[in-house]
Amino acid sequence: MQQADQQGGILRLAVPVPLRRLFDYLPPAGVDAASLHPGQRLWVPFGGRKLLAVLVEKVSESSLANLKPALELVDHQPLFDARSREFMRWAASYYQAPPGELYSAALPAALRKGKPADHWAEQWLTLTTEGKGLPETALARAPKQQALLQRLLSAGPQSRTALRTEGVTTPVIRALEERGLVTWKVGPTVPPPLPAAEPSPSPELNEEQRQVLAEIPAEGFSASLLEGTTGSGKTEVYLRLMDRVLQAGRQALLLVPEIGLTPQTLRRIAARFPGRSIAALHSGLAEGERAQAWLAAAGGQADIVIGTRSAILTPLPRLGVVIVDEEHDGSFKQQDGVRYSARDLAVVLGRMANVPVLLGSATPSLESLHNALTDRYRHLRLRQRAGAARPPQIHVVPTLGQQLEEGFAPQVLRHIGETLDRGEQALVFINRRGFSPALACDDCGWLADCPHCSSKLTLHRRERSLRCHHCDYRRPLVDSCPACHSRSLSALGGGTERSEALLASRFADYPVIRVDRDTTSSKEALDRLLAPARAGEPCLLLGTQMLAKGHHLPKVTLVVIQDADGGLFSADFRASERMGQLLEQVAGRAGRGELAGRVLVQSRYPEHPLLQLLLEKGYGPYARQLLRDRAAAGLPPVRAMALLRAECEEPRWAQEFLEQARAMLESLAPSSPQLQYLGPVPALLERKSGRFRFYVQITAEQRAALPPLLARFCAWAEGNRNRRLRWAVDMDAQEL
Ligand code: ADP
Ligand code: ZN
Ligand code: ZN
Repeated sequence: MQQADQQGGILRLAVPVPLRRLFDYLPPAGVDAASLHPGQRLWVPFGGRKLLAVLVEKVSESSLANLKPALELVDHQPLFDARSREFMRWAASYYQAPPGELYSAALPAALRKGKPADHWAEQWLTLTTEGKGLPETALARAPKQQALLQRLLSAGPQSRTALRTEGVTTPVIRALEERGLVTWKVGPTVPPPLPAAEPSPSPELNEEQRQVLAEIPAEGFSASLLEGTTGSGKTEVYLRLMDRVLQAGRQALLLVPEIGLTPQTLRRIAARFPGRSIAALHSGLAEGERAQAWLAAAGGQADIVIGTRSAILTPLPRLGVVIVDEEHDGSFKQQDGVRYSARDLAVVLGRMANVPVLLGSATPSLESLHNALTDRYRHLRLRQRAGAARPPQIHVVPTLGQQLEEGFAPQVLRHIGETLDRGEQALVFINRRGFSPALACDDCGWLADCPHCSSKLTLHRRERSLRCHHCDYRRPLVDSCPACHSRSLSALGGGTERSEALLASRFADYPVIRVDRDTTSSKEALDRLLAPARAGEPCLLLGTQMLAKGHHLPKVTLVVIQDADGGLFSADFRASERMGQLLEQVAGRAGRGELAGRVLVQSRYPEHPLLQLLLEKGYGPYARQLLRDRAAAGLPPVRAMALLRAECEEPRWAQEFLEQARAMLESLAPSSPQLQYLGPVPALLERKSGRFRFYVQITAEQRAALPPLLARFCAWAEGNRNRRLRWAVDMDAQEL
């Protein structure tokens, strides 16, 4: 045990290593602990390496002897304020995240590497005593100098960035400097300037929008779900809410999906708030710019912070509201490393900061809908559709027994051809990923289902088996249909590369643009790819979910969903939710312009009640039905769920590891109606980068039951010495 000579002389640091604890150090040689503040970064020695750590707290006692001194202090000012540190502590404990890795995830790359924050300190043009003493009418012969002087007199110091953006020239500034009236001073960081936008006033709100706004309390914590179709004016509500908190002198945080942070979005916000300091945090920024924007947000200088997932981890000392746009979007959940949900954390942050939180979507996640329907969240709705766009026509194309060409019915191919020949654009969704395969007969529609529960069996090709992901029943793969003896069995949801190749060769006269995560690693790449589509030329877009949102493509008049059945019969219980969201979102896209839109949905089971419900009544009633189904099946969001994951080149090792883990946990917390274990079962994407993936699923009636169990698992698993085996915990997992 080591005691510090002075109160709080020991530093407790978050060090970026995969261990779920903080580490104690002494202050760097010659530095007095009293001069250090939580939230500052320090270099520390760790296992022969030098790592960048964040000071979380100062303590007087450590359980360890022989503490090492930290090496060097990086920042003069703390980067993380007290609330942010409390928020990080909460998140680390809920998601079982190593605190050091969570702090790393919060920092932009340049700061993670240890560049001092001072590097982005801003130069502020400030009046000297002499300048302050001048009358407003001084310098009448030099109007530009006079204008600048008056501005400094009335508005205080001006940042170099702002002056440059507004076109104040160096000679004007220098002239004032030479007269001894102004001087540059180093001050707080400001965000990099956004492209200029013409100021645009806000429209008069309609009655629904006014009501919605009136229901969101201006102060104090509240969580609200805003459910409103595309184009119903949700963004307008966000802007008004932001305006309200800016007026009160506070910061507004707007979270958007990865694909939603487009130049148009930024322009719309910049145009509404001229003169406000806006920090955009997204992966498209250069490293230095991102650090600058982050520091401006964390220092409290940025009034508005717009960002993707990780922006939720940014300290915001003047936070006044958190808004999450397209809250159902999967990109809010981090799928590796620290697997947090920015959407869920938004509500936690709102509670801690005691400010309102607004989640908006045309197709709310079942999680948020459940919270709204059980009165945990306020349920706000916008039902009218602004603008003139007509709702599109949706048709189901039955595929059973049809002569399909690589998964497409002849009439669908004909429609695509006619659309292109008319000079319009078509959009085809091929769900190559995300839908796990159930096995079906192409001739009679037979489906392999579980004899013990109501779910379908999932095809695991490697094992040549069919498995139930609800009760773990398994049987060998069959070669022919038990109902009609046809040998034509295939996996549902199965768009393939051959489907894409067929379209490319059949419509070779037109550009065929493929959009998915592989072809579009960055926003710029996506913009380049979509350029012909934006230009309005006839073209065929092939895509995944990415294309469903955010893109205004008025010339798209035909949307094809190649296979709805993958969504209806997936072992991934979220597939039906995602399909509903996709369909509603594309239906909202098609025909947004002058031209009427048409949506064709291919299915073997056109009479399926869920599909019928979706097509006839829309996403709202469909989602409510799915919620009832989830409740009946004991699945999220009605029950809480966490996964223990393991992956390894040698599948047996991963499986055995998880079997041991489950046995260990079950001996502590036996399975019961309140707490249920499943697995290990293969992940839906069984093999990734050469490793076989498995998981154990734990569901609980009480959410609070899960984190302690996960903590036990982590403590146990951190002792794992098999370096080729990777493991993780996934609280509120979104992917199976
Ligand atoms: P959403 O975010 O729900 O898709 P938006 O807020 O973007 O909807 O609104 C859709 C369109 O309608 C936008 O062009 C917006 O400027 C316009 N709009 C929204 N509210 C109003 C209003 N009260 N009066 C006039 N136009 C509006
Ligand atoms: Zn059959
Ligand atoms: Zn079963």
